[in-house]
Amino acid sequence: MALTLALVAHDQKKPDMAEWVARHHQELRRHRIVSTATTGRVVGEACPDVPVQTVKSGPWGGDQQIGALIAEGKIDALIFFPDPLTPMPHDVDVKALLRLALVYDVPCAFNPATADLLVKAGLLGK
Ligand code: PGA
Repeated sequence: MALTLALVAHDQKKPDMAEWVARHHQELRRHRIVSTATTGRVVGEACPDVPVQTVKSGPWGGDQQIGALIAEGKIDALIFFPDPLTPMPHDVDVKALLRLALVYDVPCAFNPATADLLVKAGLLGK
């Protein structure tokens, strides 16, 4: 079954996201991906054959748009690699996104190790 996956990475973590999508690109091709603008570009460059729908960049409301999609039940899993070492002007948006993912019990991964476990657990299909 095709899922809708939200992929978001802060700037320092975008290389990790590019590496993660490249590693799982065979599985990801079968699903829909929604990303914040800059993450979406990185994902598209890493895996040109994986279609990515983008929303606004995180600091410009993209995290809130992803949160709204979660509230509407349109996101099946959130793969979000936040940067824990850099202060963010949109910290409140990040917190709101995490809160909605918890409220709606959406499967989440906040680092590549956990995202790998979701794949291994069969989230993206065998
Ligand atoms: P970006 O937004 O993908 O446009 O960089 C992500 C974020 O900063 O939350």
